[in-house]
Formats: sequence, C-alpha cells, structure tokens
Amino acid sequence: VQPVPRPHDYNSEFVTIFGLPIWNPAYSEFKRWWDAALQEERCALMGIANAHTLNLAYKDPSYMEALRSFDCVINDGVGLEMAAKMRGMKFHYNFNGTDLFPRLFAEQQGPLRVFLYGAAEASNAGAAERIHRDYKNVEVVGRVNGFVDQATEALPAIQEAKADLLLVALGQPLQERFLARYGRDLEVKVASGVGALFDFMSGNAPRAPEALRRLKMEWAYRLVREPKRLFNRYVIGNPKFIVRAHNWKERDRS
Ligand code: UDP
Repeated sequence: VQPVPRPHDYNSEFVTIFGLPIWNPAYSEFKRWWDAALQEERCALMGIANAHTLNLAYKDPSYMEALRSFDCVINDGVGLEMAAKMRGMKFHYNFNGTDLFPRLFAEQQGPLRVFLYGAAEASNAGAAERIHRDYKNVEVVGRVNGFVDQATEALPAIQEAKADLLLVALGQPLQERFLARYGRDLEVKVASGVGALFDFMSGNAPRAPEALRRLKMEWAYRLVREPKRLFNRYVIGNPKFIVRAHNWKERDRS
C-alpha cells in the first residue's frame, strides 16, 4: 500500500488559525493532491473550514482534534481571508464546496465512483440525478439520506458500494465527527464533508445571485432565507470569529 500524498508534498504553505494549520494551495496544487489521493487505497480525509467550522473548533477541543486528524483542511469564505490577512498571509483560492465539487466533477478525466451520504431524501436524490445528468465521468454508485441510522444503515451501504469518493452532507460538526470516527476504515479513497452541497446541487436551496457571491456575501443571502437557524452562526458568529482570529494572531504565527 502506497502512502497517501500529504499536502506538504505539494506546497508547504499553511495558515494557522486557532492552532489549526489550514493548507493554502493554488487550485492546481490542490488538484494534484486530489488526483493522487484518488489513486491510493487508504482513505484520505478532507475538510473545508469556514468561520463557523473554526468557531465550533475553538469551543470544542474534541472537534478540533477531529479536524487535526484530517489529511487536508482547506479554506472557505471571507472570514478566513480576513484571518489570513491578520497573519500577514493571503489564501490563494477560495474552496467553497458548492463551487469546488462541480468544478472537480467537470474536470474529471477517468471514471469516478461517488457515494452520497446526507441531507434530506429529496436533496440527496436530486443531487444524484444532477450528477448523472451533468458529469459523464462521474457515477453515483450508492446513496443514503442523512437521517437514517449511521451504524446500521449508512455505514454498511457505504462499505458495500466501494466508491472512490464519499461526500458527507450532515452539516458541521456531525460530518467531520463521522469522518474522524469511521474514516480510516471506510472503503473509499477520499472522503469529504460537504455541508449543504446536495441542497444546492438538487436545486432545493437556491444559490445567491452571482453579484452577491462576487461580493463574498453568500452567507447574507442564506441568512435571509433561514434567519432562525443561521442567526447565531452568521450575525453573532462572524464578528466573534474576527475578534478571536485577531486575538490569536500572534500565537498562530509563532
Ligand atoms: N443534515 C443531515 N442530517 C442531520 C442534520 C443535517 O443530513 O442529522 C443535512 C441537512 O439536511 C443539510 C446539511 O446536513 O443538507 C447541512 O446543512 P448546513 O447548511 O448546516 O451546512 P453548511 O453548509 O453550513 O456546512
């Protein structure tokens, strides 16, 4: 069994936030890691960290440990951009999952077998249909929604499917906890948490208009649509993250 390539084999730049090293590749470097990891037998764990992720990890050492155990943690969102700037650094690319996975699928050269785990049944099924329709090299070889029993239904289905890629859409922190707990024994080559990806891919949740996305305000659009659920995460959480990131900048640089 060959070792899975580590991010620092490609580029050793990391931005450390609250003690968590976040890899800072150009898209092309990330893509090299991705292609290589998909060739290896062992399961590589990948996480996409945004301000909410880091706020959760800040408060919960066990969640921080889960993220630390991953092979590759990459950045998403304007909050992390600001934190990088405070540390005298700049992220080369914004790895927003909702844009990243469609891009990776569109660029996929050989056949890629994918398992979709998570979200409501309609979103999960809708995302599978969308992948089938839009990406000729990507095949959904199994799927279960995010509300079945994990140990007795989700895990056996994943192991049986022998997919190359597992996408886990349970939201944070559930999806990273799931991966940290079972990831190394999963019969897939790469596994990643993907948040609300299936809701967006299926069309069950609309994306923010392009203009807002360009202004890096997608979070504001989501907040208006789901104020109850997202108020704490964004209105309280974003400023909290900025203050914490500021307070930690010297510690993170040393
Ligand atoms: N979800 C799930 N099972 C659960 C809780 C949540 O499948 O027990 C799904 C939910 O339906 C949604 C996704 O997890 O599709 C997470 O959405 P959220 O907006 O919280 O993710 P984010 O983009 O913030 O990571």
